Amino acid sequence: MTTLPGAAIRDETVPAKGVTAFTVRRGETVRVEDLEGRQAVDLICYNLENLDEKFWAAHTAKLNGTIYITTGHVLYSDLARPMMSVVEDTLGVNDVICGSCSFELDAVRYGEDKAAPGCMDLFAQGIAPWGLKRSDVPMCFNIFLDYPVQEHGRVVLDRDAGSKPGDHIDLRAEMDLLVVITACPQVINPCNAHNPTPIRVAVY
Ligand SMILES: [Zn+2]
Repeated sequence: MTTLPGAAIRDETVPAKGVTAFTVRRGETVRVEDLEGRQAVDLICYNLENLDEKFWAAHTAKLNGTIYITTGHVLYSDLARPMMSVVEDTLGVNDVICGSCSFELDAVRYGEDKAAPGCMDLFAQGIAPWGLKRSDVPMCFNIFLDYPVQEHGRVVLDRDAGSKPGDHIDLRAEMDLLVVITACPQVINPCNAHNPTPIRVAVY
């Protein structure tokens, strides 16, 4: 496990296939760390003062001028306001175009008999205590997930996260936030190398 650059306000291990939801104040930094390697992580966030305002992947791509978000880039809201800044990113591979896995997506891709609850379902569970529901879940920020766009715009979905144990991304809150993070439970496609594992989520 890595050493935090500042005093820990929160430090938890999110179990494999788990979700965590918590509030952070502006200026605090969230560290997401892969503990065992090759684990994809989905993150969404909401303005704590106005839960209608949420992370917006499309604005994040447009306003940063890239779909490959890493150190120095900013996560924007649907109101085009900065929500989080990437201050450190040891892997440098994250995605903003492919969103979350879900039971419904599995059912289309692999058949209903193989489908299992995914990150969309975990997000719905995580935000429920704040009075939010599944339809309030935006497209996520996919941490450690490698979905490079190929020639002619072809999207390759079935690649595993390239992260190693200790790889982490640090995101500084630019406003007071509700942050929701999943350890992706997907086992059918290889985004977790078919082996979901725990992650560390810390705030400093
Ligand atoms: Zn997932």
